[in-house]
Parts: sequence; C-alpha cells; structure tokens
Amino acid sequence: MRTGDLKLIQELNRSIILNTIRKHGPISRSEIAKMNKISPTTVATAVQEMIKEGFVDELGAGASSGGRKPIMVSFAPNNFYLISVSISNSIIEAAHVNLEAKILSRKSLAVKQLYGEEVIQAAIGLIDQLNEEYMELNKCIGISVAVPGIVDHKEGIVRYNSKLQLQNIAIRDILAERYGVKVWVENDMNAIVLAEKQIGNRHYSDMIYVTVGDGVGAGIIINDAVLRGKKGGASEFGHTSVDRSGIRCECGNYGCLENYISWPAVYGRIVTSISRRRHTILAPAGGPPPQLTPEMFHEAVQQGDTLAVDITEEIAGYLGPGLVNLINLFNPEAIILGGELILEDSMLLERVRSYVAKHALTLNSGPLQIVTSSLGKDAKLVGAASVLLQDFFRFSLSSQQVK
Ligand SMILES: [Zn+2]
Repeated sequence: MRTGDLKLIQELNRSIILNTIRKHGPISRSEIAKMNKISPTTVATAVQEMIKEGFVDELGAGASSGGRKPIMVSFAPNNFYLISVSISNSIIEAAHVNLEAKILSRKSLAVKQLYGEEVIQAAIGLIDQLNEEYMELNKCIGISVAVPGIVDHKEGIVRYNSKLQLQNIAIRDILAERYGVKVWVENDMNAIVLAEKQIGNRHYSDMIYVTVGDGVGAGIIINDAVLRGKKGGASEFGHTSVDRSGIRCECGNYGCLENYISWPAVYGRIVTSISRRRHTILAPAGGPPPQLTPEMFHEAVQQGDTLAVDITEEIAGYLGPGLVNLINLFNPEAIILGGELILEDSMLLERVRSYVAKHALTLNSGPLQIVTSSLGKDAKLVGAASVLLQDFFRFSLSSQQVK
C-alpha cells in the first residue's frame, strides 16, 4: 500500500472515530471499535492522540455488564472555539462559538447604509471587539462567514450581492491575513441547510431550506451534498419569477418572488393599506405605528385582524406555488421553513401545507415533511459554525459511514 493511501485511511478512521464520539459519547473505546468495525488498537491510538490534542475528554468508568468497567470518552467542545460571522442585509453579527456550535458570546451591528468594503470593515470591527474580551487566538480554530448572495466558497469570495453592493470581495483573504487563522466563506442559505442537517439532526439526504424574512432564499441538499450550480448561484428561490410583468427587481428581472412575500414587501403593503384608510389594529390611530415588526404582524393575524389575515392569505398564495415548483423539481424528503415571517405564523404554515398537499404531484408530495426550522433566530451564526466544523473535522454529511 502506498504511504498516501495509508495516510488517507488513517484520516478517514480518525474522523469516523471522532464523529462516533461526538454523536454517541460518552462511549468506551471498545464500543467505538465494534460500532465501526475498526481494530481496537487503531481506536486506542487515535483516541489517545485526540485526548492529547484536547478534542476528547476521558471520563470515569461507565456501567459494566460484569468484569472490569470500561473507561468512557466524550467529545470536548470547550477547549477550542471558532468565530462565526453572519452578514445579512439588515444586521451583522459575530460570535464566539464552541465546537458543538453553541454561541458563547456575541456582538452585533445594524447595517445602515453600509456598502461594499464597509460591510467587511464593520464585521472586522465586531471580531476585534470579541477578541478584546477573549484574547486566546491560539485556541481559535478559524473564522466562518455566512453571507447572502452568490458566493464562491472554494475561493472565499463574495461574487455578487446587490443589496449590500458586494462584488468580488475576497473576504477569506482579507480575514486570514488580518487574524492569521483559516477562514471559510459560504452562502448563508447553504450554511443554514448544512446546520439543519448537522446540528438540527434532520437526517434527510434530500432536503430544502426556505426562508421568508428580510429576503427570500433557499438552500438545497441533494444526495447529501449542497447544490451550488456552476458558479455558486443555484437556489436563488427569491429570484424565481412569479409575474413576468410584475414589480421590477434589483436583479434586473421583473416579478421576482422576493418582492411579493419578503418582510419589506409585506411592510410596504401594510403602510399602503393604512394610507388608504383601511382599518387595522396595527394602526389604531390611523397612521402606521413608528416601528412595525413581524412580531406585531403575527399578533394581528392571531387576533383576526382582517388586513393582517388578508396579507397572510396573499403570502400563502405566492409561497404555495413557489414551494410546489421546488417540490416538483427536486422531489425532496423535507422542506424546512425558516425566517421571521414564517416561524411564528401558524396560519401561514397551515395554508402553505394544504396548498402543497393539493397541488404538488402526488408522487412527490406523498411522504414529504413540511416543518419549521429547529435553529431559531441564530440560524445564520450556527450555520456559519457548521460549515467550518464539517470541514475541520471532515464530518460526513451522509448517514452511511465510510468503511
Ligand atoms: Zn430578482
């Protein structure tokens, strides 16, 4: 056997062993060997190495079915950390995150009229603030950035984002040079769909994450791999056309879905309706309240406000057909819905589910699950973390392990 092959096998075994400890720990060495059909000596050597490096802890003796009690080992998530950065069109966040993608501390900044390089400088400002509080950069395994738009994840370059005016910005190189650590850059929706699978334990080989919030987007996993397209521009669900003579979109096209169901679109519709003197509890005195949030909108839906209910029906009327298109194109096992406009709105969820049940090809919609995101409001930060963790530990996305 060539040395290269041997090294590859060692690395594969190492990642299988670490993955087993992470998923099933506390676990004994002999259990790991049995579970993966790897020799006990190989397991013992690898585990010893990982204990020395600080990725695995040795615990006390576990339960025994007779004879000597085995020593248990478990994954050690807190000896190292990573920095997650989430850039969205309205807020930039940076966080210290442990190796189980748990957020330890965070800094954030509202994006107000920041464009191009200024956005990256703002992110650097947040990372600097985090580092001032926690200076042990030698324990940082890297920085991972989730950003909306078309991202070249191999080169770590944001190719295009119209709202933030990002064009060919080499985020990876900028951050790597400044902080001297490895840097990952990924499209935010791809990051979240990865996190749903890894952290949210959604064990589907074919799944689609759809968000409706500030914007509308999707992340698609087919055959356990993220679907990117040739240049990283796949899954632009928000820019699929729903009306060829509709509203002009920033992307240059007309009638893109995003302009009908995103929060800015919904907000615009509420304000217009109020100015036309339509009665709603969102504006008890006639004018719009100073700060209207998605939460206030959901509250109005729950209270049966006719304007809020009408708008929800309208959103469902666009989103339902959009999902049917996705389902008929990709035949996923699950659609996971996230974003502040969907997460708290049971009426919208119910409408969309029943639309899909009626209109998608029966063969495709049969065993399909339509569920809400398990990652909550921190989905993007957790998403960025899981991109890094998957690569750093070479955790397989597939439920089938390499033997
Ligand atoms: Zn568009």
